[in-house]
Amino acid sequence: MKKSTFPIMIISALLIFMSIGVAAQTNVRVPILLYHNLVSNAHNENPMLSITANNFRSHIMALKNAGYESISLEQFYDFANNGKPLPEKPIIITFDDGYSSNYDYAFPILQEFATKATIFVVTSTVGATNTVNFPHFTWEQAKQMQQSGLIEIQSHSHSHKELALFDIAEIIREIRLSKYLIETNLNKECNFFAYPYGSISESAIQAVWAAGYKVQCQVGDYGYNTVETLSQPLLRITVNGNLSAEELLDMIEQNVQTDLY
Ligand SMILES: [Zn+2]
Repeated sequence: MKKSTFPIMIISALLIFMSIGVAAQTNVRVPILLYHNLVSNAHNENPMLSITANNFRSHIMALKNAGYESISLEQFYDFANNGKPLPEKPIIITFDDGYSSNYDYAFPILQEFATKATIFVVTSTVGATNTVNFPHFTWEQAKQMQQSGLIEIQSHSHSHKELALFDIAEIIREIRLSKYLIETNLNKECNFFAYPYGSISESAIQAVWAAGYKVQCQVGDYGYNTVETLSQPLLRITVNGNLSAEELLDMIEQNVQTDLY
């Protein structure tokens, strides 16, 4: 072997290893969990909309112990578009609506376990206490969560309408006004949108892209997401608040292992 070919061989071997790594990552399946409200003690709440703080803590601890690493939607987007690598077992944790309980109960737990999450807020009810079933956190609290570097605040529309039932002018108002309010109140870009009630229409999807959002999220009970599916509304798994930590892990595994695409 000529001396001069040696570095070339090393470089080629490195390139092959790197491309294997990238190919493996391109096939990555990212589950997105959806939570809503947290409560201190369970009463008769709908388990699809609420979970006790204790059980939520056990979920977050179990995910960590099972090797899941929480990522932001921004990281998923960056991975797909700029090739920034993801952890081995990525998971995205989301909350819809913007309840005060996210700040009071979830935020301290997420900080305790250094876990990232995305909260989709309804901008007309930020800080609302009287006009809603459950109180919603304020812009100040949103800012605090954002400054922790763990929480992304994103859009769940302006007034939580079933967008598919409204005309295009109203859809555009709902998605653009909420984006504007988040950007001006939190002094950052708002690039991700989650449909209220998962109510989606083709014209809404087009309007959300046209408003400048980079990722759209549905409401649902199954599935995972890949680099390819980032160009369509992402699937989220609504977490039943009655699930034990073990059941949660089983449920995620089942979802990630069931081929969809
Ligand atoms: Zn909602």
